[in-house]
Formats: sequence, C-alpha cells, structure tokens
Amino acid sequence: MSDAVLAAFRKLMPPMSPTERDAIEAGTVWWDGELFSGRPNWHRLLATPVPSLTADEQRFLDHDVEELCAMISDWETTHIYRDLPPRVWQFIKDRGFLGMSIAKEYGGLGFSAYAHSQVMTKLSTHSGTVSVTVMVPNSLGPGELLAHYGTDEQKRHYLPRLAKGLEIPCFALTAPTAGSDAASIPDFGIVCWGEHEGRRVLGLRVTWDKRYITLGPVATLLGLAFRAFDPDHLIGEREDIGITCALIPTSHPGVVIGRRHMPLNAVFQNGPNSGKGVFIPMGWIIGGQPMLGRGWRMLMECLAAGRGISLPSSATGMAKLAVRAVGGYARVRQQFKTPIGKFEGIEEALTRMGGNLYMMDATRTLTAAAIDLAQKPAVISGITKLHLTERGRQVVIDGMDILGGKGICLGPSNFLGAAYMQTPVAITVEGANILTRSLIVFGQGAIRCHPYVLKEIAATREADADKASIEFDAALFGHLRFAVSNLARTFVTGLTGSHFVGVGADVAPETRRYYQQLTRFSAALAFLADVSMGTLGGALKRKEKLSARLGDILSLMYLCSATLRRYEAEGRQQADAPLMHWAIWDAMFKAQNAFEGVISNFPNRIIAALMRRVVFPLGRPYVVPSDKLGREVARLLIEPSATRDRLTAGTYLSTATDDPLAEIERALAATIVAEPVEAKLRAAVKDGRVEAKLPPGEGVDVLTARAVAAGAITAAEGAALVIARELTAKVIGVDDFAQDLGASEMRPAQAGMQVTVAPSVRHKAAA
Ligand SMILES: Cc1cc2nc3c(=O)[nH]c(=O)nc-3n(C[C@H](O)[C@H](O)[C@H](O)COP(=O)(O)OP(=O)(O)OC[C@H]3O[C@@H](n4cnc5c(N)ncnc54)[C@H](O)[C@@H]3O)c2cc1C
Repeated sequence: MSDAVLAAFRKLMPPMSPTERDAIEAGTVWWDGELFSGRPNWHRLLATPVPSLTADEQRFLDHDVEELCAMISDWETTHIYRDLPPRVWQFIKDRGFLGMSIAKEYGGLGFSAYAHSQVMTKLSTHSGTVSVTVMVPNSLGPGELLAHYGTDEQKRHYLPRLAKGLEIPCFALTAPTAGSDAASIPDFGIVCWGEHEGRRVLGLRVTWDKRYITLGPVATLLGLAFRAFDPDHLIGEREDIGITCALIPTSHPGVVIGRRHMPLNAVFQNGPNSGKGVFIPMGWIIGGQPMLGRGWRMLMECLAAGRGISLPSSATGMAKLAVRAVGGYARVRQQFKTPIGKFEGIEEALTRMGGNLYMMDATRTLTAAAIDLAQKPAVISGITKLHLTERGRQVVIDGMDILGGKGICLGPSNFLGAAYMQTPVAITVEGANILTRSLIVFGQGAIRCHPYVLKEIAATREADADKASIEFDAALFGHLRFAVSNLARTFVTGLTGSHFVGVGADVAPETRRYYQQLTRFSAALAFLADVSMGTLGGALKRKEKLSARLGDILSLMYLCSATLRRYEAEGRQQADAPLMHWAIWDAMFKAQNAFEGVISNFPNRIIAALMRRVVFPLGRPYVVPSDKLGREVARLLIEPSATRDRLTAGTYLSTATDDPLAEIERALAATIVAEPVEAKLRAAVKDGRVEAKLPPGEGVDVLTARAVAAGAITAAEGAALVIARELTAKVIGVDDFAQDLGASEMRPAQAGMQVTVAPSVRHKAAA
C-alpha cells in the first residue's frame, strides 16, 4: 500500500530548491517538536536549567555595561555626532563588546547566549544606537561565520582582531533586487586565475552591489555573500556553484564603501557598498575552497541561533524602558486631579504593556537557555524574533499613547520617541516579520517539528528503491497513527474541557489548567496541520494566511510555555501572578482565534465543518482576560514594588540629575509619599479648615502653606508635597528649541567638530 502512496507522493511533492532545502534542514528541533507532538512533555520544559551568569559575565554587566551606558546620551549621539562619539567607539572596542561571542582562546569574552542577551537587553534600555552597533559583530556576521566554518588560519588571524575591535566587521547579503528573497542575489563571482600579492593564484572575480549594510560605512572587514560560478571548470564539473561567503578587507582595491543610509533617524552606521570585477584569492572564502557554494547553509545555520538572541533582547530592553518609565509617568502625571494611570482607558494600555513584557522576557530567557544547551532552534528563534519585535512595538506604541505630547516632542528629555521611530527596523531585518509569519514559522515548523513529515520527504528522495519503500512505510504508518490519535485526543479533550489531561510535572496549582489547555491545543494543532497538509498539499505554501494562523498557534503556545517556565523558575511569585495570568489568557484567546481563523477560511467547507466539530465540540472556551485582572496588572506598573523591579530587571538606572528615567524614578517615589498628604489637604479644604480661594498668580504651594499653618498637615508633610510637585514639574516638562530648531548654533560647532551640548531649553512646568 505504501509503495503506491510513495509513488503518488513523489508526483505531488512541490519541487524544493537547494536553498529551500538548506533552510528547512538548518538548525535543530527542541521544544517546538514537543508542541507539535500533541502531547508535550511538560517535565522536559520545566527541567530546562534556569540560565545564570558566571562571575565574569556578572562583573561585565555590572561594571562595563553600566559604564558604557553612563557615557552615552542618545540625544547627543543622534543629533550632534550622528554617530557614536569617538570615545564611546574606543571604549566599546577596548572592553571587548565587539567580541562577546568570540571564544576566550581567540581573545574574545566567550559569553554564553544568556549573558550576551543580558548585555544587549541592558544596552537597549538606554541607547538604540549603541545596542545596534554592539549587536551586529556579535550576531550573524564574520565572527560567527568564522567561528563555525573558518579555516584554522582564518580563525587565528581574524578572531583575535575582531575580538579587540582592531577590525570592524559587517555582513553584506541584501541587494536592491534581493531583500526577503535573499537567495536570489544577483551578485556573482567567477572562478579564475588572477594576481594577488605579486603571485598568480586561483580566486574569484567578484561583482556586487549591496545596500542596507549595518556597520558597512565604517567596516574594515566586509563579509560578502555572492553566487559563485565556474564557467571554465577550473575546480570541477559544476558551473553554478551556489551562494558563497567571503571575507574582504575594505581596503582591498576595488571595494567601494563609505556612504550612509539614514534608517529612521537612527545613527548607527548603515550604508551601501559595491565592487566590480574585484579579484579575491580563494583563501578569502570563509572555510576556504571546500566551502564554495555552502554559503546559504552557513547563513541558515547561524541565523537559527543568532536570530533568537539579538533582536529579541533589544526589543525586550526597549519594552523594559517603556514599562518602567511610562508606568512611573502615569502615576505622577495628573489630569482631572487624578493620576492618569488610574483611568480605565490608560489602565488598558498599561495592562498590555505589563503582560506583554512579562511574556517577552520569559521568551527571551527560554530561547537563550535553549541556545546555551547547544540547540540551534531554527523555528523557535524565528518565533522569538517575530513575536518579541511585534510585542516590543506594541509596548512602545502603548507607551507613546500614554505619554501624549510628552512622547511626541523630541529632545534630551524624551525617552521614547526614538524607540517609537525605530521599531520598524527590528521588524524588517533578519527576516521581515510578515514573511516570517506567513511563510517560515509554520512552513518550516510543520516540516521540521512534525515527527513524520521530514522522514516521508526524505524517503521520496531516497534513490535506493527498497530502502525508500521501507522508510516510507514506517513513516507513513507512524503518521497515520499519529493523525488518528490526535484527532481522537482533540475531540475528547474538547468534550471534557481537558480536565482529565495529565500534566506529568509538579506545577503551581494556579497554572495547572493552562498546561491542560495547552496540551489540548497541541493535539488540535497537530490535527489541523495534518489535515491542512493532507488536503492542500503543496498549495498550502501559497495559502499564506492559513499558514500564518497555524504558525501563530505554534508561536503562542511557545510564548505560553516560556511564561509558565518563568513563573516556576522565579519561585511562583504570587505578587507577579496577575502578569502571568493576563499574558496566558490573552495568548490563549489569540490562539483560539487563530484556530477559528483557520477553520472559517479553510477552502474545503466539509472538512472545515469536521474540523470545527473536532476542535471545538462545545464551543470556544477562552474569553478575553478580565478587566479586574487587567487592573491588577496596571497597578503593578504604577508603583514601586519588587514585582515592578523584577519586571524591569536589567534596565539601566542612571543616577544623573538630568537623565529622564532617573527623574521619573525620583518623582514617583516623592509622589507616593505625597499622595496621602494631598488627600489630607483636599479633606481640609473640603471641610473648610483651609481656605481654597487663591489670590491671582499664586500657586498650590500657598494652599500647602495655609494647610501647614492651620495644622491640617505637618511641616514635613508640606515639604514632601512641594518636593513632589517640583520633581513632577521636571518630569512633565518637554524640550524646546530656538526658532530654527538650533540649526544655526549647531552648524559652526559641527564644522569645527567642537561639539557642545544640544541647544535645548526644557520648559519648567507652568506651575
Ligand atoms: C536598518 C537596516 C539594517 C540592515 N542590515 C543589514 C545587514 O547588515 N546586512 C544585510 O545583508 N542586510 C541588512 N538589511 C536588510 C534586511 O535584512 C532586509 O531589509 C530584509 O531582508 C527585507 O528586505 P527588503 O527591505 O528589501 O524588503 P522586501 O523583501 O521588499 O519585503 C517587503 C515586504 O514584503 C514582505 N514579503 C516579502 N516576501 C514575502 C512573502 N513571500 N510572503 C509574505 N510577505 C513577504 C516582507 O515581509 C516585507 O514586509 C538591513 C535592513 C535595514 C532596513
């Protein structure tokens, strides 16, 4: 029977290009495989070691990272230098920031993925420019590629230089006609003989035109991806050898580099570069001649890990800053005589911010832990990048809405405007989010994580007919058993509300139902995936909306797993429970909607009706998280507490007098002290002990003095009120500039590089 199916399968299978195959096969399967199994082993998740820092890593975070943050003002960097100031560049190089992921034996810091993530998170709470600058050399690029694929000679030469910042690397893949479809790069290299350092050597004559390359304009070492061809068969039979990665010193004759793009007003270095018929020796191919044509596989393997660290950490850092600062602001900023954070409308936005951040940080940590377990989780890193940058953007948008004009007027005291402008950068790079959601998460997940599909595909490609028959038979019947079992489990767990599902692990009682529901969703996802693949076959690849929703279910289950893992790892903190509950309810509700979206839009209506009966036999169980729960979350954000500290742990907290976050922290502490005094004062005014009418031009401080004189509040309480008002006035103040926005004052300074502080005047509050 299975031989007949195998023959049909071979005809049905959509053709897979070598680049697609490399992408599908890159990396490893980890918890994503469990989520696809219909029966996740929760004990395995909870047994994942909680990542921690070594003494060296902790010291680096507490000293070097703090020092670096203290050196930077994002405003100065962006509006005056339009680059990191020279002393900051030097500090980054000297302290090894560019070599965090390079092994110690090559002079790097040899940090774990978790330590790397912690550093990126903290930097991103303070300066987007410095965070991107540090991110790139530690992410997908020459360092990473050399470490995995370089020859010994290449490693010995370049890694120590990269680690010490003696080389600034960049990696150039994107071309004007090849963005998301990066495998279609038109850049090419022809294998030929040429002259290098006075000798005739075998090499390639390379032509390229790249754009958007981060650190490109200041790079000394260009990592370049191009397609290699051997038309004269100098090295073998094949003419089209495939995508290849090389390292080219930017000082090499013919390399054109140096101009800059301006990505949404951010001033990290980014720009185009090109070259025409530039001869490079074979020794410059990463890994040497044997690695010719292996570039795509190399990139996919490295992306499988790196994508899970850099951008997720920077999105989480940005969200931490937003939550910490906006939460505090929402308490000190009053309108209608009430802190704005207590209005239900603002509460709603604060709730999303808190719940999203709790889940983001949980996911960032779990993914870093997986990478430290030597996983290269391709699907999980795609999920982490996609969902953390999306949620990071939502957190910043909510923060901006809460800040109102304070978020809009740029200047040194605006702490969120730059992040708001630049969130699309993280959405676009390392796999644009729409593409990742529509094509990658489920497309790659269904094949990689499914226990049988990859085996079936492998059998269709097996040349030995007997072997193919045996392997396909085993995979096919395993698949059938798997599909029938998931159908039955989905239906039964749906009918019984998953109350009888065993969790198989010691979990907090208040979270037990979530594990049961997630097990039900896991069986339902596996069932829908099988039905979709079985009925739509290769057409599913083009049904991006269905694929995206199936991917959302997988992603949301991963985010929920990470959140439950975090709750256990942090010792079931009861005070943080509202954050955990809200994040899970919200995600489960969204996952349920994604199921509904797949079923409602499934092309075959008879199968859709069957799916609905099986998945939701008694209707849909999840509703939106309650307003009461939302209020509990919002309250956690607007007052100092251990929960607020845990939620925003790793935020750079400056003590500088003019640092906007430091100002908010001080104003918040003073406001908490002043609020009960304010209540006493209002009561005294109401019952007539204090005269409310103020002489023209007099402020509320007169009222305070009267209250002290009348004995309604003590002198110390009166002083606390005055301090809180002063600090709040600073916080709600915004910057203003000369009529020409300071252009005339800045130009001469820039011409002579005599840089001074931006000509900004911060309005004192009208009070
Ligand atoms: C600031 C910045 C820094 C960068 N740094 C580097 C770098 O250092 N090195 C480097 O090589 N590149 C870099 N890039 C390039 C980046 O990786 C590309 O921008 C990215 O691959 C997307 O390509 P594109 O911008 O041309 O968009 P396009 O490919 O034109 O995509 C446009 C839109 O179409 C969507 N889309 C495309 N295909 C599909 C599909 N099949 N299904 C659904 N949606 C789809 C995308 O999701 C996106 O929303 C950088 C880009 C920026 C903006």
